[in-house]
Amino acid sequence: MNGPDWHAAAAALRPDGRLLIDGRRRDAADGRCFDKHSPIDGRRLGAVARGAAADVDAAVASARATFAARHWAGQAPAQRKRVLQRFADAVLAAQDELALLESLDMGKPVRWARAVDVAATARCLAWYGEAIDKVYGEIAPTADSALALVTREPVGVVGAIVPWNYPMIMAAWKLGPALAAGNSVVLKPSEKSPYTALRLAEIAVEAGLPPGVLNVVPGYGGEAGEALALHGDVDAIGFTGSTRTGRRMLAYAAQSNLKRVYNELGGKSAFLVFDDFRDLGRAARTAAASMFFNQGESCNAPSRVLVHERIADDFVAAVAAELPAYRPGDPLDPATELGAIVDGVQLETVLGYIERGRTEGARLVGGGARARVDSGGCYVEPTVFDGVAPAMAIAREEIFGPVMSVLRFRDEAEAVALANDSPYGLQAAVWSDDLSRAHRVARALRAGTVHVNQYDEDDITVPFGGYKQSGNGRDKSLHAFDKVTELKTTWIHIDP
Ligand code: NAD
Repeated sequence: MNGPDWHAAAAALRPDGRLLIDGRRRDAADGRCFDKHSPIDGRRLGAVARGAAADVDAAVASARATFAARHWAGQAPAQRKRVLQRFADAVLAAQDELALLESLDMGKPVRWARAVDVAATARCLAWYGEAIDKVYGEIAPTADSALALVTREPVGVVGAIVPWNYPMIMAAWKLGPALAAGNSVVLKPSEKSPYTALRLAEIAVEAGLPPGVLNVVPGYGGEAGEALALHGDVDAIGFTGSTRTGRRMLAYAAQSNLKRVYNELGGKSAFLVFDDFRDLGRAARTAAASMFFNQGESCNAPSRVLVHERIADDFVAAVAAELPAYRPGDPLDPATELGAIVDGVQLETVLGYIERGRTEGARLVGGGARARVDSGGCYVEPTVFDGVAPAMAIAREEIFGPVMSVLRFRDEAEAVALANDSPYGLQAAVWSDDLSRAHRVARALRAGTVHVNQYDEDDITVPFGGYKQSGNGRDKSLHAFDKVTELKTTWIHIDP
């Protein structure tokens, strides 16, 4: 299960950071690159093409040409399904390489990169491939003199702009439905983690995806990202990232061609523990595991833990007892649970929030400092604050690091009010052994996903997305097809 000698494999790795347009690797049109370093130990991984407007133009032109020629959408559904299945199989066959790239690029433990990120990516692609010949159009009820067909058509060219926290999975959530529906795609990975998206696209071409159907332009948000979001020949943007950038996506669409924009944005998910829940140990273990997974760099991390005041001391003690299990370690060591923060900028952001928590008067229960400084990488101890007040920054803002804020409530009404007092509404959890309470609170919570007495179940079959400023779309599930397809009504006269 431990896989290869990850350190030897890392030393031998020479990742290719060139663009992928029209099925071929190439340098940026103006030849510019940027250096990519690993947050694990600061080592230079290589040069990445710094894609800009000219490269986005070339990628969109390639995507448009393949779409117009129906190279992909025109293939029989069974054939497209076979290609996506082969793509998924090839991702699994390359699992060690992809997991290592992901880990070196953004710092997550390699074992989780393989067990979660690669596995979920392959499952997503295979699942949407499988869906291709299972999604039908409709025939509307009409008078005898007519037939009305409602069919789904691909929107055309989809731009996908994704973040660095789950680079492969976020790409796959956009690619799965977009490709299954017959679109061509231009993918812009984060400048902080560009490598696996580029490698995925190469694997897709090897699996039989026609050149030009999937193009990848790495680069900075303000350059490649902005050019893609502003492009007049892009029909839809699937964006995952911060709420700040999501706001911009809507403005870009308004300034350009009113392309559809689907935003999957930030979160500050509330995890409510009621005093009727008997297995406090399991609730505390799950809170810690979900909070510290992926170094806390998860949009749905339960970073606001709301606990009934009667059990709060016991709960906080149980969470504190979990902290040693999440001591930061070398991400290439298969025993490591908590890896490196993506880069020095994010490290400073997280440490800044920890400092604010202290100065605003929250009680530091554990952690709170930088770790593994000698490694040359970016590490933070798993951190828990108790006595957090609702107005504090660490209760309101998305930290995107391993920092849990514990707030206390007196009754159910206060718990729901506190949980909903957020601009975000991505996920929430209710821990209660009272069936009615669990349902009542789940209904009252303004969040796209509510977990009851668990937090870790997830699957491609169910939608993922948020209320309020956590976004306006849904990734995953058959609902994702709504974002990458147009509905067409065709009226046919039937001569009586
Ligand atoms: P970000 O908004 O900084 O960047 C996301 C992507 O947008 C990157 O590819 C970036 O290069 C690009 N970008 C940045 N500025 C741009 C601009 N002006 N024009 C065009 N593109 C631009 O976010 P991030 O720091 O990479 O990711 C973290 C955020 O993503 C967190 O807020 C997290 O909650 C969110 N997220 C949400 C989900 C979800 O499904 N809701 C999933 C994962 C991450």
